Amino acid sequence: MFKPLDIKEKEETGSTTPSDVERVKCLIIGSGPAGYTAAVYAARANLNPVMYEGLQPGGQLTTTTEVENYPGYPEGVTGPVMMEDFKKQAERFGTDVRWGMATKADFSGNIHKVWIDDKKLIEAESVIIATGATAKYLGIEDEKKYAGGGVSACATCDGFFYRGKDVAVVGGGDTACEEALYLSGLCKKVYMIVRRDVLRASRVMAERVKKTPNIEILWKHQTKGLFGENGVVEGATLVKNKSEEGEEEVKIKIDGFFLAIGHKPNSDIFKNFLESDSVGYIKTIPGTSKTNIPGVFACGDVQDSVYRQAVTAAGTGCMAAMDAERYLSEKNS
Ligand code: FAD
Ligand code: NAP
Repeated sequence: MFKPLDIKEKEETGSTTPSDVERVKCLIIGSGPAGYTAAVYAARANLNPVMYEGLQPGGQLTTTTEVENYPGYPEGVTGPVMMEDFKKQAERFGTDVRWGMATKADFSGNIHKVWIDDKKLIEAESVIIATGATAKYLGIEDEKKYAGGGVSACATCDGFFYRGKDVAVVGGGDTACEEALYLSGLCKKVYMIVRRDVLRASRVMAERVKKTPNIEILWKHQTKGLFGENGVVEGATLVKNKSEEGEEEVKIKIDGFFLAIGHKPNSDIFKNFLESDSVGYIKTIPGTSKTNIPGVFACGDVQDSVYRQAVTAAGTGCMAAMDAERYLSEKNS
């Protein structure tokens, strides 16, 4: 089924030596809910999947405490425990889970090439990309200090914990408006911290926010820091009219501080080969996980700018493995 190794071809790729090369049927890049779900399906379909976990084994959920909206856990579960369960299930069916980071890709040929840690070359008949997306943070020290104590980048995930409380959302785009509107249904008061005097969001979203009585937009405000006791957020220090006449410091009392200033999909190493949108989300053919390159599939947050949930990531992981299985059986028939 597999072509014998073409040693000459490998030597021409540069630093890779023949012993660094491995052929696989199905390579899965990333170990979040999308990658592990793809692994369960691919392993059960005899694709002998090899998975590289990347720098964050288990993915984004390993950075959170309670996950209450993933079906099958009626009492809730912590993110790290849930991802251990995912891993065990993938390994039970024979997924080869490995440490390592995909650092370069070449999808120009029939066999797809992915380099791991700039050393090992994997030649894959099919590739499932499940590298996720990373929420952008402001870069202030207090975001780390209060991580898990009131700082969040996902209102759908964490909003429930702030029912009846006061929170702030940073950002003025569509995501920030959506998060603020979602939180306005749960929280007593929602501040939007907007650095300019306009919202970047679409008009319809902006109007909806402005008409919501318990949302207050703090125009031309920037976050200086957070304060609170024992690592739990009790408020934020803002600067109004920064570097302008009338600059002043403002303090607001809040229990939750939600970042909504955009996400960055982890797709940089694929950008020379895969079509993506202006932000970098990999484009898939609607209703499938297929990218523009046959045999390369994308699932989870790296191709989803809208839902970005564990359950949707898992669902598209299933799709990617099924698409890969069909692709391989058609190719090899
Ligand atoms: P991720 O979970 O982001 O995993 C990406 C994987 O790819 C990681 O393992 C990473 O190491 C790997 N990777 C990246 N680049 C490379 C590379 N070059 N080579 C190899 N591997 C690579 N969703 C919910 O449904 N419920 C919640 O309660 C919830 N809470 C959340 C709380 C927080 C704090 C955060 C940040 C997110 C939360 N989410 C929640 C969202 C959820 O975590 C994501 O939607 C989901 O994890 C996306 O899954 P994924 O598999 O696409 O990617
Ligand atoms: P975005 O459109 O890039 O908006 C980011 C917002 O965060 C902007 O208001 C920006 O301010 C602000 N911001 C960025 N860095 C900041 C910083 N360091 N400090 C303070 N504020 C900062 O991102 P997005 O809202 O995530 O949307 C991404 C894309 O998805 C957009 O195309 C959007 O339309 C789309 N989307 C659509 C929907 C929908 O249609 N329902 C929902 C969500 C997202 P400035 O404006 O000053 O730059």
